[in-house]
Amino acid sequence: MSTPHAIPFNLTRPQYLELKAEIDAAVGQVLEDSWFILGKQGTAFEEEFATYLGARHAVGVGSGTAAIHLALWALGVGAGDEVITVAHTAVATAAAIEQSGARPVFVDVDPQTLTLDPAGLEAAVTARTRAVVPVHLYGHPAPMGPILEFARTRGLAVLEDCAQAHGARYEGRLCGTMGQIAAFSFYPTKNVGAYGDGGAVVTDDPALAERVREIREYGWTPARRYVSRVRGTNSRLDEIQAAILRVKLRHLEAGNERRRRLADVYGAALAGLEPLTLPLEMAWGRHVYHLYVVRVAAADGPWNEAGATRRDALQAFLRRREIGTAIHYPEPVHRQPAYLDLGYDAGTLPETERAAREILSLPLYPELPEADARRVAAAVRDFFTG
Ligand SMILES: *Cc1c(COP(=O)(O)O)cnc(C)c1O
Repeated sequence: MSTPHAIPFNLTRPQYLELKAEIDAAVGQVLEDSWFILGKQGTAFEEEFATYLGARHAVGVGSGTAAIHLALWALGVGAGDEVITVAHTAVATAAAIEQSGARPVFVDVDPQTLTLDPAGLEAAVTARTRAVVPVHLYGHPAPMGPILEFARTRGLAVLEDCAQAHGARYEGRLCGTMGQIAAFSFYPTKNVGAYGDGGAVVTDDPALAERVREIREYGWTPARRYVSRVRGTNSRLDEIQAAILRVKLRHLEAGNERRRRLADVYGAALAGLEPLTLPLEMAWGRHVYHLYVVRVAAADGPWNEAGATRRDALQAFLRRREIGTAIHYPEPVHRQPAYLDLGYDAGTLPETERAAREILSLPLYPELPEADARRVAAAVRDFFTG
């Protein structure tokens, strides 16, 4: 009998091979045109992305982190201000807030969706609060209704972090179209992935869009280059990435459907395993499974004397079977060494900290064979049932 093949956590090459003819032609066209920064590919992608979302404006920028930073900059958020977000997110969310000069203020997550719990907003607001940044984590929408309502009554801007939520919906509305402004990442493994860094700011507000366009290129206006009307920076989506993203965008919905199908396969194969909690799709949301994240109850304390949790033991067990997994994220932002000086002690965000000990991301990308997902699920079963 041959040993089964390894199942990596994620692969980007299968999608390239599927789309090779389209991608190669798109990249070849840019090289042929030899116009590399802010040209017709970027303009076309911005229009197509805005049209897909049903938003008025999309502005291509250098990364998802830059998209958050430039969106806050355009909103006028800066030094002395506070921005409320979650600590259960990619560190980029907090890093971008700090880049704007503002201080990130963390609220806990809802244990069911692992997104911002609106119940924590009231206590987090101060006279300095300017904006709320909900993160549609793993591809599941944050509960935008109560978040928008709270922000409206307090006069706060809402910036959606959509880096993991291309095509996700809240009550039928696409993520990225509900707050004043939204930030997307096109990091290669995101649901729409470039072959390098990329991001976009999305808004219905023409003044905000124009400000981001200026800021991303040194504060120049399209009408007057080499003279800065406002202060800016350099954060542009290049033409090769834009051309690739135009191809990728055409396949987003099919990719999201495949992700949802694989989530169904996992859901059926993993149902009824007592210590395991499967990702929930709330009735009000469309989950696009950027990640398929299960939880292993850690209520019985450390699994062994080294302090490893039962989740860690499952991860090691799967690794021995050559199944790749990952933890998004092993340490909440407020407990990471770089952010300890924000002053959040251990225990201040209990649901966030509990999630960090329990979560495990199983392999999932659109081209993952269903048979592989079944094998992963069978291995997880073996771990629990011996
Ligand atoms: C990926 C990601 C970012 C940052 O995007 P980059 O393109 O890597 O800079 C921000 N927020 C979240 C939730 C992300 O997953």
